[in-house]
Amino acid sequence: MLTVEGLVKRFGGFTAVNNVSFRVEQGEILGLIGPNGSGKSTIFNMLSGTLIPTAGSILFDGAEIAGKAPHRIINSGIGRTFQIPRPFHRLTIFENVALAGYYGQGSHSRARADEAAERALAMVGLPTNRHAGVDGLGAAGLKKLELAKALATGPKLLLADESLGGLDEHEMDQAADMLRKIRDELGITIIWVEHIMGVLMRVVDRVMVLDHGEKISEGLPSAVASDPRVIEVYLGT
Ligand code: ADP
Ligand code: MG
Repeated sequence: MLTVEGLVKRFGGFTAVNNVSFRVEQGEILGLIGPNGSGKSTIFNMLSGTLIPTAGSILFDGAEIAGKAPHRIINSGIGRTFQIPRPFHRLTIFENVALAGYYGQGSHSRARADEAAERALAMVGLPTNRHAGVDGLGAAGLKKLELAKALATGPKLLLADESLGGLDEHEMDQAADMLRKIRDELGITIIWVEHIMGVLMRVVDRVMVLDHGEKISEGLPSAVASDPRVIEVYLGT
């Protein structure tokens, strides 16, 4: 579904992502882990079009998307969440999600956006009524809202950035189960970024590890967790 080759991002003289290549197969959950500052969000920003790669190729369903505008990439079927949720506080929960559906599906149909919002909110377990406001949501609620907004855009590939940040242990388990349910029930392929291994390792099919912008390990969770290079990086943090 996704083939990334030789991806590079430089900010001035600093190389945030250095020659990273990987593939994502249809229907899998790929975990992408690495310490803070290792380049995870920068990769997501290039996959979703908010950053233009310095070099490299991103093939999605056989089409080159590197450097394409974010709305084109969303319309082609890549949805994302943001590490730091920034909902519109003057809109209701429903309106926030329907808005994402309206622009993200490209059809600009109010009725379709509303339907997509209802389905997405039900999927993540947020109220589907039209009145509930955003301000009552805690950390877990805001993460669910991020997921619902991404789902409302109708993605084939979902990029989930740090879905566990700020959650307690029980909420982390719930969030992990939710990502698996999104894959199992909706058939959506997922790349899931976290800086800690923890609960991610029990849900992903494969995992890839970044350090200082470079891929240092990739494979089954059990193999990666016992890779000396990975252990070294995680002991150092
Ligand atoms: P991660 O998501 O793995 O924590 P990021 O991808 O956000 O890491 O950042 C990787 C590195 O690139 C960090 O050192 C960060 O400071 C740097 N970086 C990210 N975005 C920019 C930017 N727009 N300008 C300059 N440096 C950036
Ligand atoms: Mg990040």
